[in-house]
Amino acid sequence: MAITDDRLAVIQPLNKFWYQNKVAALDMLRLDRLHEVVSGNKWYKLRLNLLYAQEKHLKTIVTFGGGYSNHLVATAYAAQHYGLASVGIVRGRYDELTPTLRSCKEYGMELLFVTQEDYNNKHQPGWAEELVRHFDEIYIIPEGGANQKGRDGAALINRFIDKNYSHVVLAVGTGTTMAGILQDLSPQQKVMGFVPMKEHHEQEHYLTEHLPPSVGNWQLFSDHHFAGFGRWNNTLLDFMNDFYRENNIPLDVVYTGKMMYNLHAMLMENEFSSCDRVLCIHSGGLQGNVSVREKLIY
Ligand SMILES: *Cc1c(COP(=O)(O)O)cnc(C)c1O
Repeated sequence: MAITDDRLAVIQPLNKFWYQNKVAALDMLRLDRLHEVVSGNKWYKLRLNLLYAQEKHLKTIVTFGGGYSNHLVATAYAAQHYGLASVGIVRGRYDELTPTLRSCKEYGMELLFVTQEDYNNKHQPGWAEELVRHFDEIYIIPEGGANQKGRDGAALINRFIDKNYSHVVLAVGTGTTMAGILQDLSPQQKVMGFVPMKEHHEQEHYLTEHLPPSVGNWQLFSDHHFAGFGRWNNTLLDFMNDFYRENNIPLDVVYTGKMMYNLHAMLMENEFSSCDRVLCIHSGGLQGNVSVREKLIY
């Protein structure tokens, strides 16, 4: 029972004026068009996990995230769609629910709040199980969908990636989507991952851990992080508005806005060759723009 139709994910060429013909082709894979809530890469990371839970007749999906997590709300929606209950273990205490958490509740997710300190135990065996012991037949999906089924699901995105692209560009959080795509991409194609955070040690570690050492066609960047994860300023918002005017594509403020800002800077610094053909993946996340809605033209 698919939530959406893969055929909605079209490939859209970007405006040549925007990238000043610095490369031979610059296209965007519009995974953001798949679904309003379960958009972008989230649907890919979740689908095999949900199929598994359904096959095993498990009843409750348990996962983790912060108050603005696209993964949490996507899981809430998808679980409900599959007739499963869901529990979200939320990092931090909130005096007032964020819009994302409100949506999670609307889709039937039960929220359990834990302190940042306690949340750091999430990888310890038995910790999550103990928290959700009152629920029936649980299936735990790690934060960001970062398990093997998440990576295998993300590898399904490769069906959209033509061999003629020399570079694939995407935004990175946990690295799950990037690892999945690299699992069976041609080694001639380079994958560039943009991390919207101050550093990318964790993601580097995750990718090295989950990819065979022979896979070397990837690189991470975190140069333009705008003061850290979830942070933004008017320069970034102006850039996103300009991008919308030129390409008619809405970007999100957490991931894809910073990805395209980084990529644009590299293009203008002539870091690509004029015969490169670049595919950028729009991984969705537009629900997270509510906090900056008044400042965006879309
Ligand atoms: C979650 C998310 C990412 C990060 O995906 P990972 O697989 O965790 O690296 C990238 N872009 C958007 C819009 C997201 O919501």
